[in-house]
Amino acid sequence: MKMSASIAAVAATLLATPAIAQDADPIAAVEAQQARTERVAKDIWEFAELGYLETKSSALLVDELQDEGFAIRPGVAGIPTAFVAEWGEGGPVIGLLAEFDALPGINQSTAPTRDPVEGKHAGHACGHNLFGAGSLSAAIAIKNWLEATGTPGRVRLYGTPAEEGGSGKVYMARAGLFDDADFVIDWHPADRNSAQSRSSLANRSAKFRFRGVSAHAAGAPQRGRSALDGVEAMNMMVNMMREHTTMDTRIHYVITEGGAAPNVVPDFAEVFYYVRHSDADEVRALWPRLEAAARGAAMGTETEVDWEIIHGNNPTLPLESLQKMMTAKLQSLEPIEYTSEELAWASAIRESLGEQAPPQAMAYEVQPWEVVTGYGSTDVGDVSRAVPTVSVYTAAWVPGTSAHSWQAVAASGHSYGAKGAQHAAKAMVLAAVELYTNPQLRETAKAEFNAARGANYAYESLLGDREPPLDYRR
Ligand SMILES: [Zn+2]
Ligand SMILES: [Zn+2]
Repeated sequence: MKMSASIAAVAATLLATPAIAQDADPIAAVEAQQARTERVAKDIWEFAELGYLETKSSALLVDELQDEGFAIRPGVAGIPTAFVAEWGEGGPVIGLLAEFDALPGINQSTAPTRDPVEGKHAGHACGHNLFGAGSLSAAIAIKNWLEATGTPGRVRLYGTPAEEGGSGKVYMARAGLFDDADFVIDWHPADRNSAQSRSSLANRSAKFRFRGVSAHAAGAPQRGRSALDGVEAMNMMVNMMREHTTMDTRIHYVITEGGAAPNVVPDFAEVFYYVRHSDADEVRALWPRLEAAARGAAMGTETEVDWEIIHGNNPTLPLESLQKMMTAKLQSLEPIEYTSEELAWASAIRESLGEQAPPQAMAYEVQPWEVVTGYGSTDVGDVSRAVPTVSVYTAAWVPGTSAHSWQAVAASGHSYGAKGAQHAAKAMVLAAVELYTNPQLRETAKAEFNAARGANYAYESLLGDREPPLDYRR
């Protein structure tokens, strides 16, 4: 076979500089990040910082990116822990999302049996430490690949705080930070590998605060007006309202304050509501009915009520062209290899999951592409309406593990989880390479995106014009 002069020159360069040759192989570029992924994932897992308070986690990611030559825009969208890191020139611009917030009220060591850590009040039960570390690994590998191959384009990493109930990405989308990106790649830890077209529900949450008059509950009950009565009356009306809503409606609440002692009529009570539906317009239509129930409850109990919207997410907009491409990338990867210690640890976790838990073999498989209805909500929804977005899930947790469980905390702090993050990074890098080098796919995906949003699409966030609730976890 005759080799052209330019190919021969490239081949000679590759042979002379093995580091660059390695970076030109996208999988090897990710594998070179293994130690960093484990270290960063473990550090953020230890920090276990709550939404909008992720100072150390965010700074760690920024430091790593800065060391690799990324330009950093810190504190974007009025959020101190949000940032955008960018490397490269020209287009296409491909962004990766990186989360890093923990959940309150749950923690666990990396032991495979229940082992809460004394004095620790938060944990990475959704694996966002892996999410951040895996995306970091992918961003650096993409940068190295762009550099090694001389491919034009930019890679961005979006540091996105407060996914859990804080809607961090919604404020970033509202600020237009995704508008000049061509594509966004996102992932999430899971108990299996898949890139199905998964929808999510629109949601909006609010805290309804009732104020009454306190009095001795036995000595002078006639002088009191119970704020808790207001909450209970509202809940009763909303529970009746459920019968008269459309399918796919989800309404749930917790009473976050209901008084301190039965013999004191509570002068303050608070109930925290979520309203969800697959259609954002339906959430908008349900909302005034919830407000009417609050007002009616206050009137009937002679209390006062006001409310504050806490968060709101639009549904995700999965694109078949991109999800099918991502499924193929997952299928092209070598399965994750676990050590015998990791497998022994995983089988101990499995004992706690019950008999329905799928076998370990599921971690080596890729779920076939299909359209899946998801009943959760995520702020990735708002990103996916600003820019064509492709999502992937990888087996970072033992099969059968659900998000927000102690088993998820354990795996997210373990090398088992870090391997899942590296697996996600490989799929993301392959997808990015495809998008940089395949103009036909870019065109198809953008056409699908524009058709799905509709001709007269205008972005509207479900949280209105409120500012980021930077203290919602204080
Ligand atoms: Zn979660
Ligand atoms: Zn999550």
